[in-house]
Amino acid sequence: MRWRPPPPFELTTARLMPKAPSGQKRTGATPAAQTAKRATGSLRRYAEKRNFQRTPEPAGKKLPGQGRALRFVVQKHRATRLHYDFRLEADGVLKSWAVPKGPSLNPVDRRLAMQVEDHPYDYRDFEGVIPAGNYGAGEVIVWDRGTYKLAEGTDAALEIGRGKIKFILKGKKLTGMFTLVRMRGRNSEENAWLLVKDNDAGADPEWNADDHAESVKSGRTLDDIARGRRVAQWISNRPAASSRR
Ligand code: MN
Repeated sequence: MRWRPPPPFELTTARLMPKAPSGQKRTGATPAAQTAKRATGSLRRYAEKRNFQRTPEPAGKKLPGQGRALRFVVQKHRATRLHYDFRLEADGVLKSWAVPKGPSLNPVDRRLAMQVEDHPYDYRDFEGVIPAGNYGAGEVIVWDRGTYKLAEGTDAALEIGRGKIKFILKGKKLTGMFTLVRMRGRNSEENAWLLVKDNDAGADPEWNADDHAESVKSGRTLDDIARGRRVAQWISNRPAASSRR
């Protein structure tokens, strides 16, 4: 990989660092270890892989909330290999799959989706740079986000636990029904799933994820993030040079 100048952090690490209780001295454990210890249940693996003093990613915690629309996010992530992280809110965390080719709106496509560790609910807004030397180092954009509802069943975590979840997305790029199904058979790895678009009004055989490279949060591409550049939103309101007239 070619060298890139370090882009500025979007978030200050100070904001994300675990706070020491006031008037109480820190004992032997490092802040990262303390965070890992605090993270319970399904977020433990997420916390153990990261040092939140060195990455701007959120330390996060489980969300107790009920009665809200369920959220989803797809983050485009240029780590060792480019991939899309597809995340569905379930049970107060983001259930997560790494999709190497990204989601497709073509119902014919069956996209490999490797289930990875649960991420905290706060992670859905994360966009920026995971610094070199950290787990998953590289640029991240919020490629798509929105809400979803279950097309089958009533408990998303339960559906995922059973190895198949059918859901309807309402995002900026992805809409309509999708199915995530765990692969079976001798040769399939335990965490290998397929992401498939169901045939409905949101389907589009011509659509290609590569043609939709901008963040829905900031308008920036991965290259913009890498250069630490901000897209001036107002430029899009200008007449597009001569071709329009
Ligand atoms: Mn990733």
